[in-house]
Amino acid sequence: MSTYHSTDLVTHWISGKPATGASSRTADVFDPATGRVTKQVALADAGDVATAVAAAREAFAGWSAASLTRRTQVLFAFRELLNARKEELAQIITSEHGKVLSDALGEVTRGLEVVEFACGMPHLLKGGHSEGVSTGVDVYSLRQPLGVVSIISPFNFPAMVPMWFFPIAIAAGNTVVLKPSEKDPSAANFLAELWSEAGLPDGVFNVVHGDKEAVDALLEHPDVASVSFVGSTPIAKYVYETGTRHGKRVQALGGAKNHMVVLPDADLDLAADAAVNAGFGSAGERCMAISALVVVEPVADALVEKIKERMSTLKVGDGRRGCDMGPLVTGAHRDKVASYLDAGTQAGADLAVDGRGIDVDGEQGGFWLGPSLLDRVTTDMSVYTDEIFGPVLSVVRVGSYEEALKVVNANPYGNGTAIFTNDGGAARRFQTEVQVGMVGINVPIPVPMSYYSFGGWKDSLFGDTHAHGVEGVHFFTRGKVVTARWLDPSNGGINLGFPQNA
Ligand code: NAD
Repeated sequence: MSTYHSTDLVTHWISGKPATGASSRTADVFDPATGRVTKQVALADAGDVATAVAAAREAFAGWSAASLTRRTQVLFAFRELLNARKEELAQIITSEHGKVLSDALGEVTRGLEVVEFACGMPHLLKGGHSEGVSTGVDVYSLRQPLGVVSIISPFNFPAMVPMWFFPIAIAAGNTVVLKPSEKDPSAANFLAELWSEAGLPDGVFNVVHGDKEAVDALLEHPDVASVSFVGSTPIAKYVYETGTRHGKRVQALGGAKNHMVVLPDADLDLAADAAVNAGFGSAGERCMAISALVVVEPVADALVEKIKERMSTLKVGDGRRGCDMGPLVTGAHRDKVASYLDAGTQAGADLAVDGRGIDVDGEQGGFWLGPSLLDRVTTDMSVYTDEIFGPVLSVVRVGSYEEALKVVNANPYGNGTAIFTNDGGAARRFQTEVQVGMVGINVPIPVPMSYYSFGGWKDSLFGDTHAHGVEGVHFFTRGKVVTARWLDPSNGGINLGFPQNA
């Protein structure tokens, strides 16, 4: 078994080995639970990106021609290695992201599911075949890889989000350049080492670390066929527009503001559990976190009390110490999230729970902010209109189902939503009427399994294709239809008319 190489400088990974790159720019990587800088990460320039793309391009001919059997054998080996070493990866994630260990392990497990889905690539790539569409003529379809594909991922799931894409891309015969978030870069290098150990040929999976400069270089590079981006909405929009302008296939998943609607007939204890779990898990730094509770009266007072009781039991601290909730990813992000508590109260909301200055099981310098609850939030307040991406839950009180639906549908984001009710008819109506890509019925974080596709509507996704599942296979392949006739003298003759079947 190889050992993961943890170093003071997180380097790129090109052609199956660490690569320092020509750029001398670096960025700090923090341990969010202590606030200390633990290492540096290399920031690629356009030349470093070009080196990685060239490596991927060179590897493409061999990898795309490798048999499906060979490719799936490597996928299976990668799955086994990742499963055996998932605790190690979870520790790396916690040390740079801050989320608690159990949550980091959950993230790796959800990524593993996509690897397992991609192990079925021989079946997923099967095309159609129609015999005898015309006299002596057969038609069949093929799906072929795109070439060099790029993945640009956010800080909040440094292992799972890249794994939404690269297992499928690689199994389908593409070669990959991954540009992870510079805030928690080490998970990507760990995954790269596992690929090498699994027998993936050098150059099929490459990692370049960096910021906007690296992203722009990928978006503009003529040999990059596609871009799979996940991050905030303004950057997703920019990536979509720039990437498509440069002729690439782009799927750009953006930010979110997820609503949980609670109808008066809901089980309020279950709804309170769900709101706390989905609002404060991973310190609210999940694109599927619940950030707005839309409660249909007259149950709001009762629900808010139950939520406050549960919040008072949450243990905040270092993710390695068995706490419920860890720190935020950086000091700057913590300060920005905390500023919404003042903005909310100034705008007229009730600060029912203030997470600032809470006791934590961790070092003073960590990027702490406890779970916070703002009640009587209205849809014109910045705490409602902005994606906060932290442990701040807002309660919006409404008078009816119709009003609740209007709130959800008027929001520009459409990633995830949930309804809590015991009324099957109301739930069914909601699933039809809500303008959101992923819907939970008494399930607060409805992240689809790997064999369905993940993606939002409206400002939560730019492009047509969602991640993983059959849509992922389609994104990473191009369709081709073959019409074949094997030579037979009876088919000869001149005919300039448009081909018709006979
Ligand atoms: P971000 O947009 O700041 O960064 C995402 C990626 O873009 C990173 O790799 C980053 O290096 C790069 N980047 C940053 N600034 C850039 C710029 N100016 N030009 C080009 N590239 C740039 O997002 P983040 O803070 O890392 O992640 C949190 C965001 O991601 C939230 O908005 C969250 O909702 C979203 N997210 C969405 C989904 C989804 O499925 N829709 C999933 C996870 C996270």
